[in-house]
Amino acid sequence: MISNGVVVVLTAALLVCATAARSELSPTANDGNSGKSFHSAIDVRAGNESSTAAAGSSALCRQTIDIPGGPYRIDVDTCETPDLTEWTKTTLAPVIRDWYPKLAELLPSEGFKPPEDILVRFSASLKGVAETSGTRIRCAAEWFRTNLKGEAAGSVVHELVHVVQQYGKARRANPDSIPSPGWLVEGIADYIRWFLYEPQSHGADIPWMRERKNLRLRYDAGYRITANFLDWVTTKYDKSIVQRLNAAMRQGKYREDIWKEHTGQSLPELGDEWKREVERQLAQPGNHENGL
Ligand SMILES: [Zn+2]
Repeated sequence: MISNGVVVVLTAALLVCATAARSELSPTANDGNSGKSFHSAIDVRAGNESSTAAAGSSALCRQTIDIPGGPYRIDVDTCETPDLTEWTKTTLAPVIRDWYPKLAELLPSEGFKPPEDILVRFSASLKGVAETSGTRIRCAAEWFRTNLKGEAAGSVVHELVHVVQQYGKARRANPDSIPSPGWLVEGIADYIRWFLYEPQSHGADIPWMRERKNLRLRYDAGYRITANFLDWVTTKYDKSIVQRLNAAMRQGKYREDIWKEHTGQSLPELGDEWKREVERQLAQPGNHENGL
């Protein structure tokens, strides 16, 4: 299901993410060649998803999260995995209640209404971490069970970003629209997750990079690396770059020129400058950042 091969162009409905897996940027995962080769990174397939097929009918394992004062309604289904029900109620539900409206606000675009009815279902059989198809998120219970105190909630935030992105709609409405680059789709999801939702986790910043070997510092490496790049561009050049890119991709109008128009630098130029800056920071002793 999740393969080592990667399809970067998002033309179909289903995003399979290994967003929280530490292994996604392991040394063996980085071939340094194309920006497209990830271990368990992205696999976009024609969606024939069956996320509701085994949803069950028990009210006990299906909770509805209503957002006060908002139109959103998010169902969390643990009918296949009742051992996770307590965690979803005590830990995940408050995160979703708090963050879904924030994600919707973070990624606006003209005429866009964020999805209002969302299903998060825990699957006993799904491998990997999680996947999103339209407004349905499936979470791999096996992975979640071993990450409840760590990366579990954040990985759902990453998937919720995909729900808000809705970049596939433009492609479905207009086959001539420009496909969104997969590295950027995942980079935005990880940027919001690691730099806005849980910066205290240091999951994509310099302290995190210090612990990695054979980092492939390419702006289009995807996930956490691209997230770091986006944070750098946001901080140094344009506080709204993520919003601009999001709006363009949602309308099927992504162009590389967007970077230059708003920063004065081309994308490769930005990538080179960012890489030099990261390398400079990595070369310094890391004793002042989060104790690392
Ligand atoms: Zn993802």
